[in-house]
Amino acid sequence: MNSPAKPRYLTKSRFKIAVECPTKLYYTGKPTIYPDAKQEDDFLMALAEGGFQVGELAKLMYPGGVEVSAKTHQAQIDETTRLLERDEVTIFEGAIADDGLFARVDVLRKTGSQVELIEVKAKSFDSTVQNSFRGARGGIDSGMRPYLQDVAFQRHVMSLAYPNLQVRSFLMLADKSKTCSVDGLNQRFKIRRQDGRPVVTVAPGTDAGAVGAPVLTAVNVDEFVDEILREPLSVPGANGLLADLAQDWAERYRTDRLIPPTVGAHCAKCEFHTTSPSAGLQSGLHECWKIAKGWSESDFATGSVLDLWNFKGKQKLIDAGVLRLDKVTREHLKYKEGIEGLSRSERQWMQASGRWPGDTGFYLDTALMRRQMASWIFPLHFIDF
Ligand code: SF4
Repeated sequence: MNSPAKPRYLTKSRFKIAVECPTKLYYTGKPTIYPDAKQEDDFLMALAEGGFQVGELAKLMYPGGVEVSAKTHQAQIDETTRLLERDEVTIFEGAIADDGLFARVDVLRKTGSQVELIEVKAKSFDSTVQNSFRGARGGIDSGMRPYLQDVAFQRHVMSLAYPNLQVRSFLMLADKSKTCSVDGLNQRFKIRRQDGRPVVTVAPGTDAGAVGAPVLTAVNVDEFVDEILREPLSVPGANGLLADLAQDWAERYRTDRLIPPTVGAHCAKCEFHTTSPSAGLQSGLHECWKIAKGWSESDFATGSVLDLWNFKGKQKLIDAGVLRLDKVTREHLKYKEGIEGLSRSERQWMQASGRWPGDTGFYLDTALMRRQMASWIFPLHFIDF
């Protein structure tokens, strides 16, 4: 008997990539058709970010918490629903869903009709600094915005799934103002690869006492979440309330329909970009530019303005219809010769024109290099982090 098809939910991570560009939803999760550069080594990424270890550390702060361990989405939702029938409960990885939206919440703490929704992140902050979530002009800090949007998405799903519960939202972060009171804390949370996925093993005997004074702090972020839910969200090709956009994206993702691409400078960072589509693999970026700009493979062969090194004016060029590298002029680059070595625009012009001194496969300013090396004071120490 065939197993039922996996439901196509708009999850937290899919919501996040849709905020970057809604068209990405069509390419995500199809590695045999559209390779995803961000997924190529999620184990190394997990190691670098430390998010999994911090998640385990956070659980120790809530002894008696119950982990939702069911395998399928529906079983996870059912298990969470049953747990939330209790008057008081702390749930780890609770699953909430409504009309195509789905989220696993790191920590849910229920007391009567009040719920604390806690998202745990490895990101650090300093709890002694006032207004650390706001930028200089009073808006939400751009570095914090993705984390707060993530919480806003979860609170939106929670309010749809459990309209009778009052939800308060928190971000739990690594607090730089706290001092770790035990040695070898990181050694208690070992990350390993299992079936290609990162899994954390917690050393035996690790409990709240063993990890010392908390180095994580839960910050109430209702003010920011309210603001995000209230104000229109601007993403490539769309502008609207999070609730409306999420509903639209959920439906498009469920039915696997491509959201017409709005290409722009943001495409330079697109993870669905393969430079040489082959062996049945396709480049999402190529498809987008073919649809939106009528490009052909020969246009890609000449290079696009997306490839321009260290150039902040890509969007302006795209808006002006300058898409191919060979259409870029010195004026576009505000060409200026450097005084000592190459200027940025000289370097960019070499790339756009495809010409550089010596006509070899590379350019090295040997004279400048020698002058720089002459100023070095030996011995030198090479330190690799
Ligand atoms: S190429 Fe651009 S428009 Fe297409 S999915 Fe990537 S970022 Fe979005």
